[in-house]
Amino acid sequence: MRARLFWKLGLTYFALLLGVLLAVDFYSSRVLRRDYIRSADDKLASLLNVAQARPPRLDDAADLRAWTEWMGRSGARVTVIDNTGRVLSDSQHDPETMENHSNRPEIQQAFATGEGQSVRHSATLGRDLVYRAVRCEQTGGPPVVLRMALPLAQVDASVSELRRRIYAASLVVLLLGGIISLTYFRVFSARVERLKDFSRRVAEGDFRPLPAERPRDELADLASALNETAAWMDKTIRSLSGERNRSSAILRSMVEGVAVIDAQERLVFCNRAFSEIWNLDSVEIEGRPVIEAVRNSDLLGLIRRALRGEEGLRSEIAMGIVQHRNFSVTATPVQALEAASLNEKPSGAVVVLHDVTELRRLERVRHDFVANVSHEFKTPLTAIQGFAETLLSGALEDPRNNRRFLEIIRDHATRLAVLTDDLLKLARIEAGKLEVQFVPVQLAEVIERCTETSQLKANRKRIALEVNVPAALPVVHGDASLLRDVVQNLLDNAVQYTPEGGRVRISATAGSREAVVTVDDTGIGIPLADQERIFERFYRVDAARSREAGGTGLGLSIAKHIVEAHGGRLWVESEVGHGSKFSFSVSLAT
Ligand code: ADP
Repeated sequence: MRARLFWKLGLTYFALLLGVLLAVDFYSSRVLRRDYIRSADDKLASLLNVAQARPPRLDDAADLRAWTEWMGRSGARVTVIDNTGRVLSDSQHDPETMENHSNRPEIQQAFATGEGQSVRHSATLGRDLVYRAVRCEQTGGPPVVLRMALPLAQVDASVSELRRRIYAASLVVLLLGGIISLTYFRVFSARVERLKDFSRRVAEGDFRPLPAERPRDELADLASALNETAAWMDKTIRSLSGERNRSSAILRSMVEGVAVIDAQERLVFCNRAFSEIWNLDSVEIEGRPVIEAVRNSDLLGLIRRALRGEEGLRSEIAMGIVQHRNFSVTATPVQALEAASLNEKPSGAVVVLHDVTELRRLERVRHDFVANVSHEFKTPLTAIQGFAETLLSGALEDPRNNRRFLEIIRDHATRLAVLTDDLLKLARIEAGKLEVQFVPVQLAEVIERCTETSQLKANRKRIALEVNVPAALPVVHGDASLLRDVVQNLLDNAVQYTPEGGRVRISATAGSREAVVTVDDTGIGIPLADQERIFERFYRVDAARSREAGGTGLGLSIAKHIVEAHGGRLWVESEVGHGSKFSFSVSLAT
């Protein structure tokens, strides 16, 4: 660029100079020649005036020659021509050898009008001359023409002298101009180069300003304008990237999955939550068709509707086969995703996925709970109502049945009381209001009292109740009354779900930090699929059997909560037909 610019400027400058030079040359030589001819003509006119005042004597050849010589001393060429065109005398040539002059324009003019004039090449002398001729009347003879001429050679010499000087001066100007412009150009191109570097720097993101330019010219103005632009860009980019960082921090930290999809259904952006929902590598997936990332026809349908411009789209989608998850989805069309998009249609859509799996689970749990509670209450209430009506409608007087019916009513009322009791306990526990009075507890004592309570039931079913508790069982840290509830529930269940003639054993061991109590039986066992669920409220493997035995389906759920409130664990190992083994851990008192 440097050389090209230099040659462009240099050649323009040279062409300009040449143009001016040629114009000066042309006009000055013309003016000079015109002036010279005019002054030569004036001079010839005055000489001819003198000649006319003292005309030559034509009859005397010697006198004519003397006259011609005398007039020729003025520096002009003097010629006398008669009316036939014959040269009678000439100051610079022998008239005998000269050709007839009747065809010379100035001679013809002079004979015709009395005066003639021309500037032309002399055939006789072989050079350019300025001619002036006058007609001179002769007494007693035909008129003659006196002609005087001055050479133009002088003016040509002057012109070439002038030209030489102009050219010399131009050469000096050219040289000086060349040196000055070369120097100026070097400075200029260095400054342009600096501006170029600066622009490149700005393009790469380095916005440090240029130092102030020395001469305050247009280039300096350009530099300061560029500085202002760079400063403005710096500020704008800073604020934009600050804004972008803020937005991306917000989007990153959002638990909702957010994705932006363009009009061509490509995924332009997605946050981490979104890529985690769909198991995507967010870096690789950006720019790819959304159909590759999202394999859910409901969501794709929603995105397409938003891309068509539908506002306020909301829906709920379910996904996952093994692990079911629910998402509440909103899809909103967005305008001008790319700044230049001017058409009416939305240029993209924003999708927000909100995980409502837990919400739905809780709703389901609540719904199930209400259904379960109603169901549990319904049987005893119906029975109470039925027997009360039977009694009222006459059975009261029936001595064989009235007592039995009242006993049934009492049993169902007791069952309702137990159920309400368990529900209240559970409600308290789940509301976080279970107050655990941590004190050192003799676990062996707890076990002993529970075993005593279960003994009667065990005897009734001829179940052998074994207790295997070491004498020196360390003291645990907990609430004796609550721990009793746990042990009692496990023992009751074991006796309950073990057929007659079976065996139930309760044992306890102590490690360095915790004690483990185990109740195992030779009962019906629990299918593997139900083992996890028996700790849920109202969950029973065989609901009818449990209900018949007065079970509420809440026992294990309450027990698990109590154990966990003690910082321990409750678990089960069981095999259908062989028996079950329930264990829980509790920390030792320190
Ligand atoms: P329930 O009042 O019905 O006993 P639980 O919460 O105590 O309620 O127990 C839940 C369910 O777990 C029972 O209905 C029963 O199906 C099962 N279960 C509990 N303990 C045993 C056991 N020792 N052997 C077999 N099944 C058991």
